[in-house]
Amino acid sequence: MLHKIGLEEHYAIPETLGGSMIYFNDYVGQTDMRTTRMLDLLDLRIKDMDEHGMDMMILSLNSPAIQEIFEVSKAVEIAKLSNDRLADAIAQKQNRFRGFAALPLQDPDEAIKEMQRAINGLGFVGVLANGYSQIGDADTYKYLDDPMYIDFWAEVEKMDIPFYMHPREPMPCNAGQIEGHPWIQGAPWAFGVETGTHALRLMCSGLFDKFPNLKLLLGHLGEMLPFAIWRCSHWLEKRGRGMPAKKTMLEYLNENVWVTTSGQFHLPPLMCTLMQMGSDRILFATDYPFEDVSEACIWFDACPISESDRYKIGRQNAIDLFKLKL
Ligand code: ZN
Repeated sequence: MLHKIGLEEHYAIPETLGGSMIYFNDYVGQTDMRTTRMLDLLDLRIKDMDEHGMDMMILSLNSPAIQEIFEVSKAVEIAKLSNDRLADAIAQKQNRFRGFAALPLQDPDEAIKEMQRAINGLGFVGVLANGYSQIGDADTYKYLDDPMYIDFWAEVEKMDIPFYMHPREPMPCNAGQIEGHPWIQGAPWAFGVETGTHALRLMCSGLFDKFPNLKLLLGHLGEMLPFAIWRCSHWLEKRGRGMPAKKTMLEYLNENVWVTTSGQFHLPPLMCTLMQMGSDRILFATDYPFEDVSEACIWFDACPISESDRYKIGRQNAIDLFKLKL
């Protein structure tokens, strides 16, 4: 399919690259190539896009980046710096790139200010956070259902922009289950559990009752939620244990959540997600440069779905959700 738009496509600046090196070092013989791709904001990725029918990438900073900078003033500074560098790249390639803002969620007021600057001043089309933020010291952290974020979420809804919740590793204090099993850290397992759980926390907290027009984006075909949501919803309807949320989990998934195909190039999970959420709420993404544009595109272009669904997932849903002016 030509003219695809990709939603989870990363870049780094030298100041944030370090958090990705643990993953790049896993690519035997490819560490330098992956690192170069991550830092490139122009020609390298455009060559890949041109070869595989991608018109546009909506770019986002690597993970965990801002979310692990527990010194608040430094988080504010690096968020601004990365957003400015991305804005420069978008200005040079306006027909190929759009941007998600990185936000210093260590300080919700600063996050609101940077979000307003990035959307209204730099022309970004959404915001992306890498899960929870460490704040003040390495051991203190907040998930986004914390009451301190209420004004932030109110502003996200008011600005009517999508919020992409991207994975990061669980805090060491929450990762006892995988201790001693480093092979299931990150993309093979821990990212999905951590991020799916964070999304469920938002749903259960009643956030989407307070702000019913929030648009939450999840990668990796919904971080396991489309497969698991029925049982979760079914049991919470029978036994809510004081849960604040007013609707069912199925309703939140189908009213407030969109998912992307990042890093999930396999038909059975796509079919499950299509059956659970429908083709209006699924969007194409690769997870570049951890994944290859070629693998994502070759799979997506040939996967046995209707051409109507392929067009929606590959392009039109992104245009609609982000109100892209192309
Ligand atoms: Zn990613």
